[in-house]
Order: sequence, then structure tokens, then C-alpha cells
Amino acid sequence: MDVLEGLWRAAKDERLGHALLFGGPDGVGKFSCALYLAAGLFCASGPGKPCGTCGPCRRFQSGGEESNHPDLLVVDPLDSGAEIIKLNRIAFRENSSSKDDVEMRRTVEGFLDLHAVESEWRVVIIRECHRMNTNAQNALLKTLEEPAAGTLLILETAHVGVLLDTIISRVTRVEYAPLEPVLAKELILELAVGTNERLADRLARWSKGSPGIAMRLLREGRAAEHELLSALLSGKRGAMDCSNEVWNLEGEFVAATDRAMARMRARSLLDFALEFIADLSRCCAGANVDRQVHTDLLISMSGEDSPRYLAGLGPRVEVVREKLLECRGDIEANVTPDAVVARAFLALSQLVIRPLKVGR
Ligand SMILES: [Zn+2]
Repeated sequence: MDVLEGLWRAAKDERLGHALLFGGPDGVGKFSCALYLAAGLFCASGPGKPCGTCGPCRRFQSGGEESNHPDLLVVDPLDSGAEIIKLNRIAFRENSSSKDDVEMRRTVEGFLDLHAVESEWRVVIIRECHRMNTNAQNALLKTLEEPAAGTLLILETAHVGVLLDTIISRVTRVEYAPLEPVLAKELILELAVGTNERLADRLARWSKGSPGIAMRLLREGRAAEHELLSALLSGKRGAMDCSNEVWNLEGEFVAATDRAMARMRARSLLDFALEFIADLSRCCAGANVDRQVHTDLLISMSGEDSPRYLAGLGPRVEVVREKLLECRGDIEANVTPDAVVARAFLALSQLVIRPLKVGR
């Protein structure tokens, strides 16, 4: 917030640069901040914290992330599904004032050439700008070299290193860090209405302080995956039972086919299991169980007496890790997800300390 206040003040004093680069890990709110910054520039009482009630603020809030504000252009490869943005041929939705809501194509340059319609500012936000290829970056460079008055370009990325040096040298960098766990938890509770404290706490840890990632994990059903792994590792459920259950878990994955969705579920589950294995392996080497991301899984596996159990487990953990990595590779190689998940659960079941009691 302090950063945004500073940028609004700079805009007021006419010393804000024409291009900002919001860098930092995925999911920490860079894109939301970019939108909020733009809203504060457009606000009738701005530049400053948007009042939320004036005409420009209301127009900004309508229309979702792309907003209905005529002076804002959001280029979002996540939204269009495009792998690479070609800057001269960017598809984006222009919300027309008519009800027809016509889809139009425009270029960033074309957009910036126009005079601001409503405010003194024209703002372009390019989300995940590292997806631009070299040609696109070079085209952008021209815009950066000859900026029109009142234009602001905000580039957002978690991979600053991929951008051309010539771009980086022309932008003002703003770095975002992951949030403190307590703050991340608060934000998660605010974003995911109806989430309980315990889940918010776990999401904050699983996402390592990135509310954006936490929201994705929530959508994808990470909590259900967690329950399943916990049941397996504690010996309450068998590998076969668990691997069948995977396909009944709730969770949304965006993919065109069922097979593609199954692959995404398998990938998510395997990445989760590998993260747990990393924790486990650290604890086998003597690290404190309470200090890990997956403390609760470690405890469901080894009970309260964990240090004693974990001490001798190291070699077995390495074998399981190798098998899981192999499974992870198979998913990318398009092996049937059911088969891969079944193998992964079988591998994980080798870690069960208190196996299922037959006949109970
Ligand atoms: Zn306002």
C-alpha cells in the first residue's frame, strides 16, 4: 500500500515515469495492485486511493478485471489463452458502451495514440509480460522510447530475468515480496468467503504467503487432496482405495477435455506429494517437524513420536521420491493419469508406519 501511495503522489507531482515493472513471485497481488493503481489515477479526486463512488471509480469497478473504464487496456494472456503475445496483434475485449459488447482488436500503440477519454491518463497493464516474444518486446520498446504524455504502461511478471535489458533499463521497478503468513491468512479469509481459520492457515502455508496461489489451490481442491494423503500416510486407507478416490475429489481445473483435466489433477497431486517428501526428507535428516510446511501430514504419518520414527527412514524416503519423480515425468509424457496416480499412491504407501489392520 505504501508503494501505491508513493506512486500516486509521484503522479500528482508529475514525476511518475511512463513505465512501471511490477516484479515478484506469482500470486502476491502484483496484478491487483496494478489495477488499483490505475483506479487511483482515474478517480475524480485522484491521483490517490480511489474513492469508489465517483463516476470513474464506478466505471472502473464494473466489468470485472478488464473494467469498463475507457482509458484502461488490460492485456492478459491468461484470459485470452494465448501462449505468446504478439504486441502488434493483441486480441482483447473492448467493452463498448452499447449493449452489443462488440469484440474488437487493437494494438497497445493504437490505444496509447488515442487521447484519454475521461481522465488525464491512459493506462495499459500487461499481465505476465514475460510471455512476450523478442519481437513483441522490441515493439514495446518503441512505445517506451517515445511515450505520449499521460500514458502509463504497467508490466507485471514473476520472471523479470526473461525481459530484454533494454526494456528493464527503461522502466521503474517495483518489487513485491511474499506476504507474512499472518497477513496472507487474513487476506485469504477476506478473499475466500466462508473459509474457516484452519483452512486459511493451511492455505497460507501451502502457498508460502501468496494469496493468488492460495486461491488457485482452494479452487483445485488442495484441501481434499490433503485429506486423502493424510488418510493414506496415517494408514487409515489403502493405496488402491485412495487412488480410486482421487477422481471423485471436488475441484476445478480449466482444460478442454476430461483427460486433460485428469492430467492436471494428477500433476497437482504429485507436486503436492513431492513437496511433502521434501519436508519429510529434511525431517529425516533431523529438521524440526514443526517448522515444515506440511507439519500436519508429517504428524499424521509418524504420530507424536516422529523424531524416533523418522531417524531411520531416510533411504526409504529417497526411493519414494525417485518413484514420484518418475510418475511426474510420465504425466508430462502423457501416460494415462489413472495408472500414474495408482503407482504414486503405491509408492507413498511404503512410507506408512502403522499399516492397515486387516479384518477391522
Ligand atoms: Zn473515485
